Amino acid sequence: MAEVTLGTTGITVNKNGFGALPIQRIGREEAAYLLKKAYNNGITFFDTARMYTDSEEKIGYAFKGMREKVYIATKTPAVTAEDFWKDLETSLKMLDTDYIDIFQFHNPSFCPVPGDGTGLFEAMEEARKQGKIRFIGITNHRLSAAEEAISSGYYDTLQFPFCYLASPKDLEIVRKCREKEMGFIAMKALSGGLINNSRAAAAYMGQFDHVLPIWGIQREKELDEFLSYVKTPPVMDDKIRQLIEKDKKELSGNFCRGCGYCMPCPQDIEINNCARMSLLLRRSPSKLQLTAEVQAKMKKIEDCIHCGQCARRCPYGLDTPALLEANYKDYQEVLNGKEI
Ligand code: SF4
Ligand code: SF4
Repeated sequence: MAEVTLGTTGITVNKNGFGALPIQRIGREEAAYLLKKAYNNGITFFDTARMYTDSEEKIGYAFKGMREKVYIATKTPAVTAEDFWKDLETSLKMLDTDYIDIFQFHNPSFCPVPGDGTGLFEAMEEARKQGKIRFIGITNHRLSAAEEAISSGYYDTLQFPFCYLASPKDLEIVRKCREKEMGFIAMKALSGGLINNSRAAAAYMGQFDHVLPIWGIQREKELDEFLSYVKTPPVMDDKIRQLIEKDKKELSGNFCRGCGYCMPCPQDIEINNCARMSLLLRRSPSKLQLTAEVQAKMKKIEDCIHCGQCARRCPYGLDTPALLEANYKDYQEVLNGKEI
C-alpha cells in the first residue's frame, strides 16, 4: 500500500482519497455503503464541500461513532468572515463532528491572507484556535491564486487540478508544494472524465510521492477499481507511458475540462458537457451522447447570446462560445452520419 503525508500536517493516508462530490447524486444508504466500504478497504481521506448539497451529511451519517478513524476535508465558498462562521458551523453539524481535519477556502478568486481586509484568514486562525479545524487549506483552479497560496506560507494544503495532461506550469506548482512542504491534494486526476484509463492516471500519480489524488466516486464499480489500486498500486511502465503520450497529443491545448466554473449560463446551456461533446463522443460510448435528451441540450447552444460571461469565468482562458459552436457543428455532423 502506498501512503502519502500531506506536507507538515502529519496526516498520512493511503494514496487514494475519496472525492465525495458525486455521492450527492445517490441515496443516503447507498452513499454510506460506498463510504464504509472505502474505509474498510484502506481509504481514510474523504474530501467534500459545503457546496456539494448533502454530501457532508452523508459522510457524517456513514462515519457516526468512528470519527477519529477517518480524515475529513471540507470547503467553504465564503467571501466574508460572517459567512465563513455560518458555513463552518453548518459543516460541523452536517458532518456530525466537532472538528474538521482540513478546512479549505473553495476556489476563491483571490488568495486570502492575514490583513487583506476580508477577515477570512483571521477567521480560519480563530477556528483553529477554537479546535474546530485542525489545518488550513485552499482549493483553486487558477495558477495565480495557487502560486500566491504557496508563496504566502500560510497554508497547510493546496488542492489543485492535476493529471497526466498537466502543463509545465502545473508541474511547477506541484514541485513548489514539495519544496515548501505543503500538502498537495490532486483534484480532477481524470480530467473531468476525459481520461478514461484510471490505471494510467494512478500510475502517473505514483511518480509524485507527496501528491494525494482524490477520486470522485459514485458507483461501486468505480470504487472497486480504486480499491484495487489501494491493494496493488499501479506502476508506470512503457505501455502506460505510450498511452499517456497518445492522450497528451489528442487532448493538448484548448479543451474543456468540464469543471463548470463558467456556469450558470443565462440561456441555461449546459456548458460543462456541451463544450466538450466532441471529446465525449469519441472517448466514451457515443450512444450515451446521442439520446434525445442530450440532443435537446446541444440544441440550446443555438440560444447563446454571446454575452461572454462563460469565457470570462473559465479558469483555462477558453473562448467558450466558440468552443460550443465548434462542438455543436461536429455533433450535428455526427447525427447526420459522420463517422467517429
Ligand atoms: S456566451 Fe453564450 S454560453 Fe456563454 S454564458 Fe453567455 S449565453 Fe451562455
Ligand atoms: S469552458 Fe472552461 S470553465 Fe467551462 S466547463 Fe469548460 S473548462 Fe470549465
